[in-house]
Amino acid sequence: MKEITSSDFEKEVLHSGKVILDFYSTECPPCEALAPKFESLADLYGHKINFIKIFRQENRELASSLKVSSSPTLLFFDNGKQILDTISGGIKKSEIIDRLDSMLSSEEVSEIKIKQKPTFSEYDVAILGGGPAGLTAGIYLGQAKLKTVLIDPALPGGYMGITHQVSNYPGFEKPQNGYMLAHYMSEQAKHTGIDYKVAVDITSVDLLKKEIVIDKSETIKAKKIIIATGTTPNTMNAPGEKEFKGKGISYCATCDAKYFVDKDVTVIGGGNSAVEEALFITKFAKKVTMVHQFDKLTANQTAIEQLKANAKIEVLYEHEPRAFEKRGDKMIAHIENLKTKEPFELISDGVFVFIGFKSNISVLGNTIPALDKWSYIITDEDRKTSIPDVFAVGDIISKKYRQITTAVADGTIAAITISKELI
Ligand SMILES: Cc1cc2nc3c(=O)[nH]c(=O)nc-3n(C[C@H](O)[C@H](O)[C@H](O)COP(=O)(O)OP(=O)(O)OC[C@H]3O[C@@H](n4cnc5c(N)ncnc54)[C@H](O)[C@@H]3O)c2cc1C
Repeated sequence: MKEITSSDFEKEVLHSGKVILDFYSTECPPCEALAPKFESLADLYGHKINFIKIFRQENRELASSLKVSSSPTLLFFDNGKQILDTISGGIKKSEIIDRLDSMLSSEEVSEIKIKQKPTFSEYDVAILGGGPAGLTAGIYLGQAKLKTVLIDPALPGGYMGITHQVSNYPGFEKPQNGYMLAHYMSEQAKHTGIDYKVAVDITSVDLLKKEIVIDKSETIKAKKIIIATGTTPNTMNAPGEKEFKGKGISYCATCDAKYFVDKDVTVIGGGNSAVEEALFITKFAKKVTMVHQFDKLTANQTAIEQLKANAKIEVLYEHEPRAFEKRGDKMIAHIENLKTKEPFELISDGVFVFIGFKSNISVLGNTIPALDKWSYIITDEDRKTSIPDVFAVGDIISKKYRQITTAVADGTIAAITISKELI
């Protein structure tokens, strides 16, 4: 593996056969997550493909000429030509392997796969999920000097990372950007010395054997496992929803509202998330029409009052979407009036769906802990599940209130319980 500067680019990249080029920065958590993957792949593929790193902050002109605007970004070259698509952000090992394999012949790929050796590591505690619940457990376990690994298919932060502003997390006088709160918590956990395996593929989880396999080849065995995998937004399963997901239908206002400046937006839902997110979308959109199945909103009173005072929002009570389609740039929501049964078309520039969440239990393999009737994990007051030495914390557990503060409390309780048991 080589580190270059702009002046070496022509020789080392354009006249150097097959190349993977990593634009990295310092103080960049996704770059830190990528570094060990890049190194281990350089060991495997390095004799066929040149692995090159370049510091983006000091080579900005070259970066912008290659349309690289964030770190880390990976680019691929073959005989001086840029090939394949670039990847950036929380990059998974499998995403890089797919691209590297496509640059080689099948014989070369087989030769490399034979060399790849599975790895095995042992920990006191493995935490599945790096939202506020998992990160807090990590902070306490790291401070208790327990050998701990935090595993997440994404970068750490969970929903905090996509929440526009958090105004109810104690300790901050002013509302905090969600991604900054996520950053502070993640850095705090990292400084306690726990290991991070983030932006990884979770290949399998065996809660009875306490074994987790990531990226197909890395087995992690732990004495205790904490499940902190949170929830996923519900979908409506209406015709057209899947087809237009990400192409007119979104589940994340923080991610996508900025694309709707002075546009008309439809919001499906009427609970806390729907109302709070609709309010946020009005910072950009000209008009927001909410479609809600009941005759009143089910959000908290403060949010409802803010909504009523916002002239940009109209609510269609007792209406439900039946299907979605796209005509030109417009999204058409086929809506039914639940009282009169009359159908009509609601035309807007984009649709946001906020209709609750489901627990992320599907990754837990064949042996799942006891669940409540909504498929949330039942725990005792120490956050122990029905499976010995398996704990669950945060939004994934059966409980009444799902907030950052309650997730953080769960993580604390499980970690202190484990610390006492493993002393
Ligand atoms: C839009 C929105 C706004 C919100 N605003 C607020 C607010 O202002 N204040 C407040 O207190 N609460 C707010 N909440 C609620 C709060 O964010 C959650 O209660 C809290 O994040 C739950 O924490 P968690 O760690 O349990 O789960 P999450 O935050 O959901 O984190 C779960 C983590 O697990 C990871 N994961 C998923 N699958 C796997 C797997 N198979 N293996 C390993 N890891 C996995 C995910 O990538 C994620 O990082 C909001 C929620 C939403 C959706």
